[in-house]
Amino acid sequence: MSSKHPDHIVLGAGFTGLLYATLSILKGETVHVYEKRNRAGGLIQSVRTPFGLVETAANGILNSYRLEALASELNLELIPANRESKKRYIWIGGVPKRIPISFFGALRVLYGAVATSAGIRGDESVFQWCKRVFGEEALKNVIEPGLSGIYAGDLRTMSAKLVLGKFISLDASLWKNVGAFLKERKNLPKVSKLRKGTVSFRGGLGELLNAMETRVKSSHGSEIFYSEAAPSLSLLRKKYPKSKITIAVGLESSLKILSSFDADFKRYERACRSVSVVTATRFGKKPLLGNKKGFGILFPPDSGFRARGVLLNSLIFEGRVVEGHNSETYIFGGALDEEISKLKESEIISLLEQDRKRIVSDGDEPLNHYVTVWKSALPVYDAALLEFNRELDRSLPENVAVEGNFRYGIGLSSILERAWSGTFER
Ligand SMILES: Cc1cc2nc3c(=O)[nH]c(=O)nc-3n(C[C@H](O)[C@H](O)[C@H](O)COP(=O)(O)OP(=O)(O)OC[C@H]3O[C@@H](n4cnc5c(N)ncnc54)[C@H](O)[C@@H]3O)c2cc1C
Repeated sequence: MSSKHPDHIVLGAGFTGLLYATLSILKGETVHVYEKRNRAGGLIQSVRTPFGLVETAANGILNSYRLEALASELNLELIPANRESKKRYIWIGGVPKRIPISFFGALRVLYGAVATSAGIRGDESVFQWCKRVFGEEALKNVIEPGLSGIYAGDLRTMSAKLVLGKFISLDASLWKNVGAFLKERKNLPKVSKLRKGTVSFRGGLGELLNAMETRVKSSHGSEIFYSEAAPSLSLLRKKYPKSKITIAVGLESSLKILSSFDADFKRYERACRSVSVVTATRFGKKPLLGNKKGFGILFPPDSGFRARGVLLNSLIFEGRVVEGHNSETYIFGGALDEEISKLKESEIISLLEQDRKRIVSDGDEPLNHYVTVWKSALPVYDAALLEFNRELDRSLPENVAVEGNFRYGIGLSSILERAWSGTFER
């Protein structure tokens, strides 16, 4: 452990840790980062292969004025997703559909949005909330595949308060809640229409993480210690009583660090869970949907696919494949399929090819596969995690923060929003 006293100590050098470290440096502070692996980046890696780029986890981030400001500080150019990739499909009745509900299903959604109270009741699950507000058809055909694609969770155990709480603040219709949410954000700076929605960087999201890592390492008085698991919280607080500490090591490690610091956290260590996710990128020659363009296809749990969804990489961002090639990433696992992470790579590839054949039988021979298994990668957004978040909100010592994809939002844009407002807008 270093003897110098930094302003800020960050544990973990994934997206969250590097982000908090970088924002501190932009504020003029010195930072020490401890990373247990011999490399930074955590889940996010953009790997160059002879066929094209592979993203091992996130493939894009929702743009915002905060991301634009961060990219500009780091001299990075944001690239928007191609316009034609905006189309999202859901597999319904044996085909990919853009509007996967019937006329009556749509009427039910409309009725629910204006005439039903969207206020979250007690410990309602996301499943119960969606069924009550939108009706069964929209739940099954749109929300279940959509949300389980993002959270890799089971809607029946996901907490509505934790997942939807930031959008639903009133005991009123969804229409009114959305209005209130938008009003609150009305005065925030807007991003250019050309860069709205999902964005990335030429070299993939890894480019952002590399730039943050370089900024931290090159900043006077700041350092990243690789292959160094976080020292205990008690030791850090004793040795650096004036330093801020941000724990950004993912849910499982955060729970371990907190439990050894304060036994009260042990019950959350037992109750909170993470699920495993597998990404498998396939390079071939022929596009999955022929001439159709789009972002990807989500597969509802009972659709017979093993994958939860597939991303049409070649169509989303420019320059992702070598000329004449095609790339797709299949995402497997999550709460409904924990077994997948125990399979061998060859078995996962075979499941991928079986799923692909259900969509198209174009005889396209795979040129290469790149499989990444992430064990315990994503937090389960259930009632236990909601309680853990509340505990963190009320009982952490001053100057200690715990951050990451389990703090009221799983996506990178939520992590950035919390970090940015905590650093610059408080
Ligand atoms: C398959 C997949 C697809 C995704 N797609 C998207 C997407 O398209 N858009 C989006 O916005 N989000 C997406 N996400 C979510 C997003 O990638 C993650 O939420 C985010 O990367 C989490 O970053 P993190 O830094 O909090 O955690 P991690 O990336 O897990 O980083 C934690 C770091 O802490 C280190 N660490 C752990 N324990 C210790 C310890 N004791 N001491 C020191 N260091 C330690 C780890 O080695 C690691 O480097 C996706 C996630 C997955 C898995």
